[in-house]
Amino acid sequence: MNKLKEKIRDIPDFPKPGIIFKDITPLVKDPVAVRLAVHHLLHPFLERDITAVAGMEARGFIFGALVAWELGLPFVPLRKPGKLPYDVQSVSYDLEYGSATLEAHSDAFETGDRVLLIDDLLATGGTAKASCELVEKLGATVEACAFVVELDFLNGREKLEAYEVHSLLHF
Ligand code: IMP
Repeated sequence: MNKLKEKIRDIPDFPKPGIIFKDITPLVKDPVAVRLAVHHLLHPFLERDITAVAGMEARGFIFGALVAWELGLPFVPLRKPGKLPYDVQSVSYDLEYGSATLEAHSDAFETGDRVLLIDDLLATGGTAKASCELVEKLGATVEACAFVVELDFLNGREKLEAYEVHSLLHF
């Protein structure tokens, strides 16, 4: 895991002063690191009855799609508003300033799907909680949420207490 941790770069004052942004692009630039991250993300779920993988826009698409491909399962993109062309369901959630919305196609899941949610990073947990609600609104169940990085000091896990949460790297 230390090899992976070395691939996460700190960018001070992005996107605004006082924030230290964890940049995952050095990791995705390294195919060995990507393979390792995907292996560890899906490993806890190999014997589980997962039927679909969902990823949050945008970096959740990178890891989510690879996990889905590796497990041989459908991938569902959870998108920012206005991007999806067909009927959508949406869930809005509060940000520090303002709010955000995630959308998915109304036929994204089969009724009873058991979904593994994947994102690059768990911070305050707002995005992941809204994603869980969206999956449930669409008639599926959240089996677990898995992240490459978790920022422990932001306590996002508390917002997800109703769900199983796995993270590869903790800061
Ligand atoms: P949360 O909703 O506060 O948990 O923020 C998590 C979402 O914001 C995820 O979709 C991340 O991709 C993104 N995010 C927040 N902070 C960072 C960061 O430091 N690096 C990369 N992505 C971040």
